[in-house]
Amino acid sequence: MFAVDHAATALLIKRRYPSVSMVPLLVSVQAMELAWVGLNYLGVERTTTEPAVRSVADIHLSYMPFSHSVATAVAAALCAWLIVEKGLGRAALGRAIGIGIVSHLVLDLVTHAPDIAVWPGSPLPALGLGLYNRAPMWGFALEMVYGVFCWWMYRRSGSLLAVIVLGNLANVSLFSAAIPGPEQFLAGHPLAVVTLVLAQIVTTLALIGWLANSSDAPAEAVI
Ligand SMILES: [Zn+2]
Repeated sequence: MFAVDHAATALLIKRRYPSVSMVPLLVSVQAMELAWVGLNYLGVERTTTEPAVRSVADIHLSYMPFSHSVATAVAAALCAWLIVEKGLGRAALGRAIGIGIVSHLVLDLVTHAPDIAVWPGSPLPALGLGLYNRAPMWGFALEMVYGVFCWWMYRRSGSLLAVIVLGNLANVSLFSAAIPGPEQFLAGHPLAVVTLVLAQIVTTLALIGWLANSSDAPAEAVI
C-alpha cells in the first residue's frame, strides 16, 4: 500500500487509543517500510525495475525477506507490545504500536504482488493478493476508499481529507500504464524508487500527524 494510506491508518488507531500521541502511531504504521528503505540503501534488500516503468507492475520488490515477512512483522509487533506494555507499563501505547506494525503487513498483503515471505528464507510461496500486478486500478480505488474511510472514522478537518485524496491522486499514474507520469524516470534506477518512497513516507507522516492535531479539529477526543 502507498505511503499516504499507511499513514492514514494511524488515524484509525488514534481513534481507538485517543490517549496515545500521533508520533509513535505514525512511526509504527510505517516501521516495515522504513526498515525496507534502510535495508535497500545498505544493499541487503533489493528492488528491480523493468527496462521501461509504466506502472507499479513494472517495479519489483524482488528481495525483502527481512523488512516484509509475516514473521518479521508479527515478531516486531509482539516485541514492541511486550516491552512497552509489560516492561514499561504503558498498556495503550504498547497495544497501539503493535497494531500499527501489523497493520502495515495486512495492507501490503492485500495490495502487493506475491512478494511477502512467510519468514526470511521460507521455502513456502510468497504471499500477496496481487492487486498491483493483476488489477492495479482496483488497487488504486481500494486505496482511495480505504484512505477516506480512515479520515471518516477520525472525522477531522477538510484539510486532512484533502491530503489523503490528493496523496492518492498523486499516485494515479503509477496504477495505469495508460497514464504517463514521472515513474518513467525510475526505470533502471531502483534506489530512486527507494528515495521516492522515503520522500512519500516522510511527507505523508508529517502532514497527517500535523493535521490530525490541527487547530480546526474538534476539541473533544473521538472515542
Ligand atoms: Zn510495505
